[in-house]
Amino acid sequence: MTQPTGTIFVVVAPSGAGKTSLVAALLDAEPGVELSVSYTTRAPRSGEVAGKNYHFIDRPKFEEMIGLGDFVEYAEVYGNYYGTSARWLEERLAKGRDILLEIDWQGAAQVRRIFPEAVSIFIMPPSIEELERRLRGRATDSEDVIRRRLAEARSEIDKVAQYDYIVVNDNFERARADLISVVRAQRLKGDAQRARHAEKLARMGTCA
Ligand code: GDP
Ligand code: ADP
Ligand code: 5GP
Repeated sequence: MTQPTGTIFVVVAPSGAGKTSLVAALLDAEPGVELSVSYTTRAPRSGEVAGKNYHFIDRPKFEEMIGLGDFVEYAEVYGNYYGTSARWLEERLAKGRDILLEIDWQGAAQVRRIFPEAVSIFIMPPSIEELERRLRGRATDSEDVIRRRLAEARSEIDKVAQYDYIVVNDNFERARADLISVVRAQRLKGDAQRARHAEKLARMGTCA
């Protein structure tokens, strides 16, 4: 049987744009897509669960892991390290799984260099003012942290041309449907479908 070819979806957004909420809604709708759990040196927010939202580690441990080549990509974002496990990614890819990385723009650029066929999606806030309202409304970050994240937002939005798809998160339901459409269309592409349904196609007498 042909091995299914998995897709890497990379979702990027300025902090507060709604990436985490939209990705959670997407994974509910598309259980075949698996989310990578990043390593970070950021402190857990209230409600965040170790091993589910992130693997929380300290800086010396993160730097040791960099030295061991444990990350397929990593970056310093808003003063903390974030990185994607190379081993997890390789295992999933070897099994032909579709995977989703929720990472920053620097990490997305590194992934694109290694996997040019990765599909990248940028989540855009409707305005900077709304972004600020959402960051404050989320009530998970200190004033200092909010300022730092807002200061970065404009330069992140300036890099919008680097992405294959752009989803504007104005109305949440609309944005959710848009994100699901992008992922679903990619998963229905001929190559992926032929690999997924190889046996069925063979039974029906098709040369898949
Ligand atoms: P939020 O997602 O903006 O609410 O905030 P986080 O503190 O969870 O993430 C901070 C930034 O780090 C975001 O831009 C994330 O996309 C990014 N990030 C998370 N995990 C990774 C990772 O594994 N690698 C890279 N390069 N960036 C990551
Ligand atoms: P990110 O992961 O990009 O930092 P979150 O998913 O944490 O963003 O969303 C930031 C805040 O904005 C959360 O409190 C979330 O409930 C809220 N939010 C997300 N999408 C919308 C939307 N379309 N309209 C209003 N609020 C939203
Ligand atoms: P937060 O601290 O709000 O969870 O995330 C802040 C930023 O870090 C977000 O833009 C998020 O996408 C990014 N981020 C989370 N995990 C990773 C990762 O593994 N790699 C990279 N490059 N960025 C990440």
